[in-house]
Amino acid sequence: MANSKYEYVKSFEQPDVLLPNTWIVVRIDGRGFHKFSNKYGFEKPNDRRAIDLMNAAAKAVMTELPDIVIAYGISDEYSFVFHKSCTLFDRRSSKLVTTIVSTFTAYYVHLWSQFFPGVPLSPPLPSFDGRAVQYPSVQNLRDYMSWRQVDCHINNLYNTTFWALIQIGGMDAKSAEKELAGSLSADKNEILFSRFKINYNNEPEIYKKGSVIFRDYELVEPGTAGEAIEDDGAKTTEQIKLSKTQEENDKKRRAKARITVQHLDVIKDEFWERRPWLLS
Ligand code: ATP
Ligand code: ATP
Ligand code: MG
Ligand code: MG
Ligand code: MG
Ligand code: MG
Ligand code: MG
Repeated sequence: MANSKYEYVKSFEQPDVLLPNTWIVVRIDGRGFHKFSNKYGFEKPNDRRAIDLMNAAAKAVMTELPDIVIAYGISDEYSFVFHKSCTLFDRRSSKLVTTIVSTFTAYYVHLWSQFFPGVPLSPPLPSFDGRAVQYPSVQNLRDYMSWRQVDCHINNLYNTTFWALIQIGGMDAKSAEKELAGSLSADKNEILFSRFKINYNNEPEIYKKGSVIFRDYELVEPGTAGEAIEDDGAKTTEQIKLSKTQEENDKKRRAKARITVQHLDVIKDEFWERRPWLLS
């Protein structure tokens, strides 16, 4: 195409290519969802419709982007993990983040009426921010996932107790907050059990564990897994060719696999050992 005298402005664009061979996590988070959840009358502490809608939108994102290997969601946030070999958009951060954010938001709005029938959306409409973070090792990536799931647990235990004090105990928000200030997990479990006969362990897994979305193949029986996940050293050209076809095949297999939403522990080894394809 012919150059114009204006073409030079292109050179002001800054490169934002993410490092090769690193796991890319794009985390999105609802903007002002505290207010948003009040506006649409989300049930507290957990509105099941809102969580199901988040999961449906995330599943749609994964269906459209086969490079995503796993996603994890809690509350108004979702983390999408791109495989370390991903070359989508030449790994340009802004392209990856904005595509995830806009695809997710579009589906959130599109699917809203399925999950909130008779509750029309009106401005300010739901919107999400997003960022990309790179993790150089499987251990770092797993620690990231563990970090989010621990956060889910801490928040859910707090919120469950906080709302029990208000909804069943008849407290106002200020007093409930005061009651819980500086309390440990054991204290909250005790409040729930002794005052409200709630055994936190029996709360639904979807609230305690959050939601993990991945492509489902055949499970590996416990105890038979254990192959190294980390990459090896240098490769010959023949090996590179082979791994290229392997990569193509894997990509096709991934695109075809059933996508499932589950509420499992992703901190323990078992989840990963039984699904070695996720991080290989
Ligand atoms: P920011 O724009 O900084 O992210 P925010 O208001 O979205 O602000 P968050 O820390 O992201 O704050 O918290 C999200 C809030 O959305 C929660 O604290 C909760 O009040 C509400 N929320 C999200 N999902 C649900 C749900 N399924 N049920 C009930 N409330 C929810
Ligand atoms: P990429 O995902 O790389 O951006 P693309 O298909 O979106 O690929 P663009 O270079 O962004 O390619 O071009 C957008 C294309 O969308 C145009 O070439 C044109 O075919 C189509 N298009 C966009 N707006 C209109 C419009 N108002 N009327 C007709 N066609 C349009
Ligand atoms: Mg935020
Ligand atoms: Mg938010
Ligand atoms: Mg949040
Ligand atoms: Mg264009
Ligand atoms: Mg375009």
